[in-house]
Order: sequence, then C-alpha cells, then structure tokens
Amino acid sequence: MRTLIKNAFVVSVDPAIRNIDGADILIEDGIIREIRPGIEAVAEQIDASGCIAIPGLVDTHRHLWEGGMRAVTADWSIYDFISNIRLFAARLFRAEDMYATALQGGLESINAGVTTVAEYCHNVRTPEHAEEGLRGVRETGLRAVWSYGITGLAKDQKAFASVDDRLAYLERFAAKEFASKAQLITLGVCPEETSLWGADVEAVRRQFDLARRLGARMFMHGNSRPDFNGNTRRDVVKLQRLGVLGPDLVMVHMCFTGADEWKMLGDAGSHVSYTPETEYQMGLGWPSATDPRAAGVNMCIGVDITANNSADMFFQLRCMLQVERARLIDEDKRVAFSRTPFDCSDALYWGTMAGAIALGLDHKIGSLTPGKAADIVLLRADDISLTGWNRRNPEATVIQQAGVHNVDTVLIDGVVQKINGRLVGDAARACRLQQQTTDYVRGEADALGGFDAPERVVFERLGYTAGLAALNERAAT
Ligand SMILES: [Zn+2]
Repeated sequence: MRTLIKNAFVVSVDPAIRNIDGADILIEDGIIREIRPGIEAVAEQIDASGCIAIPGLVDTHRHLWEGGMRAVTADWSIYDFISNIRLFAARLFRAEDMYATALQGGLESINAGVTTVAEYCHNVRTPEHAEEGLRGVRETGLRAVWSYGITGLAKDQKAFASVDDRLAYLERFAAKEFASKAQLITLGVCPEETSLWGADVEAVRRQFDLARRLGARMFMHGNSRPDFNGNTRRDVVKLQRLGVLGPDLVMVHMCFTGADEWKMLGDAGSHVSYTPETEYQMGLGWPSATDPRAAGVNMCIGVDITANNSADMFFQLRCMLQVERARLIDEDKRVAFSRTPFDCSDALYWGTMAGAIALGLDHKIGSLTPGKAADIVLLRADDISLTGWNRRNPEATVIQQAGVHNVDTVLIDGVVQKINGRLVGDAARACRLQQQTTDYVRGEADALGGFDAPERVVFERLGYTAGLAALNERAAT
C-alpha cells in the first residue's frame, strides 16, 4: 500500500523539515516514509500541484451530539446553554441520535480538514448512547479520542443509578471497545466537573484512578465563569488538592484561571484547550495565549459546540490569534508599534502539534514527519480565493486566508477520505440521518415548550436565586 503525493508546497510544522516547495510525500502502510522533491516510486499518485500540504488539523474539544441542534444556541449565554441543552434537550436524545450526530460530525470534520477530534461525550444516558456515539465516529474514518463522560446534568436518566454505576460500565465499555490498540480511536474520560462534585471526594478520585488504569486521556471543563456569588471557581486548586493533576489531563475553557493555578498546571504538565468562538459568545471570558505560554502550559484549540458554530478550525485558529493580538496591543498602550504579538505560525501550531501533544498523540500526528501517520490535508491554493498566495509565509495563507472551501484532499492514516473536494464517505446518508435527528429533537422540544426558555425558567433550572430575586424586583417596579 503505497501512495505518492506529488509536487506539493509542504508546510510540515516540523522544525527539522520546515517548509519545502515542490516536494513529494511518500506514504507506505499509512506511514509517511519520505518528504523531498523528486521521489520516484511505484505507488498510487495524487497530483498536488497548486496545493499546500499541511498536517491534518486537531480539534481538542468537541461535543458531537450537540450538532443535532444546529445554530439553536447561536445567540445564547452559557446559562441559556446549560439550562436549555444540558438540563433540558440532552434528555431528548436517543441512542440512534448519538449515532447520527457522530456520523455527521465526523464527516463534517474530515470535510473541514480536521483529521483528529477529541470527542467529549457528556450525554451518556445509557450504555447504548456511548456505543452508538462511538460507532458513528468509527464509521467515518476519523481519528479520535472518544471520551466517555461521567459528568452529566439532566437528572431523569434511569440507566445509571450512581457514579459508581457509570464507572462499572466504563470498565466494560473499555474492555469491549478498546481492547485493540491498533485502531484510529482511543479512549478518553471526562470526570465529573467540579460544580457537580458532592461531599464525597473519594468518588471523584475513583474516576481519575479508573481513567488512568485504562490509559485514558482526561478532559474537564474548568474555570469557565465565576460562580453566582462572583467567586472564581479555583478548579485547578481543587484538582491539585485531590492530587489528580497530570500530563494526561486537558482542561477546557479556563479563562478565569489564577496565576498560581497556571503554575500548578505547568508543574503538572497538564494542557489547556480553548474554544474561542463559544467562549467569546457565551461569556466564558478571554482565552489567553499569553498565560499558558508564560507558565509552560501546552495550549490548543477546539470547536466545542456545533449547535452554535461550525466545525471550521481555520476560523477558530484565526479568531484566537486575532483577538489575542487585539487584547495585547490594547494592554500595551504604546502610541505606535511595529509587528503584532503572536504569528500565524503560532496559530497553525496550536491547531496541529499542540493538539497532538495534548492528546498524547504527538509521536503519531501533528506534523508532516517521516515515521508519523499520514494525516495530511491538501489545500487548493491556485483557485480564485488563494491565487498569488504568500510563498514566503505560507502559514499566513493557511491561517488568515484559507478556509474549508480550500480543503481539496484529506488523508487519515494514509487512507484517502476526501479527494478533489469531495468526501469519500457517504455524506448523503449522514445528512439524511442527521435531518431525522434534528426533526425528532426539535419536535420533542417544541412539545415541551421549545428550546428557548424565558430568563425566569433558565434561572429556575439553574437554581440562581439572586437572579430570580432581581427579576421579581424588576417585575414589582
Ligand atoms: Zn465543552
């Protein structure tokens, strides 16, 4: 099984290889064997003339099931979101909806040049929800860390009586689905978020212990917003006290993180994944590229909620870079300045190598390097949108000017999943199933009063008594 990609402009994100104009990439048994101009080999050939080759993009935070409510959350704060989705609509999803959304979301990712997704599945309402969610991703050919959510909010599910029930099933799930290491999908675990911890911290410790025993990467939403009293959550301190920080933990959002907490994360080798578009919109604060860099914390980017935004990682990376620049320039206060803080090459790194490191997959993906898996994206750069592109700074073209429409060809583990701008997988079937899920979930939601609850209901579901008191006061005057 040999494939030869001919005549690409290679942007390797590997400091030893850097960028090479007119290079060929030889792939054998799914592995990149050689990158240089003028390779001759008997192989299936892909003509990459006019294309920029980049490593497949790595999305380090996503909830695939939420794709069944496309754009429903687009004008919501995090409180609307938790109330209307996690405390309400989540329970409407059947196992078949987990399959449909995973299938569609996986193909949507591949279409967008995203070759690896860290799925944070926090709607494991029954064992079948987990199994069907995983099956959907598996059928797409996407590389993934599929994370079993112990965390959950909607209270009406009956399949698991306790956290220990969830852990017992996780062990069976891991044995059944992840016994073979020779697969594209590896196991992750999302322990309970700190706002859901009860008095028994040992129950939390057992979640981390089991995840580590299973060799699973761990993911957790943290330090998203201060609590209803205005106090920062101090989630890193809580994890530190429990003794569970480590290099296998990826903290998500984290915009309200103290300097002491950044140091704890740096010392522990933990990672942070920002999801700029949802963070900017929903009031989760300012993601900072500066704080983790100063503390030596690896920082990467995720798409997060496709009930909100699309799976377009180009936009997430651009958004993160541009807003971080604006924030730093604003803080700087100089009248005149030259150059901007952070470069486009930093942003491309966040979306490739940094993501691979966070997922513990940097030996395999994240750069175009001989010996690594062939997760490769060819961007069509000779079309009307990129013609005349900047060959001296191709990272700038990739980050500032390219988009999903430029994703011409995608290989994952050496297998062609998109070619000449068309997905190889059955996109029509995925769209049909996704539409059925959307119709079902919308219908059920409408029968129960609709997704978009009024502020009073939102606050009631969240138990936000001060907010309810303020509403009452406003109504009385
Ligand atoms: Zn999330």
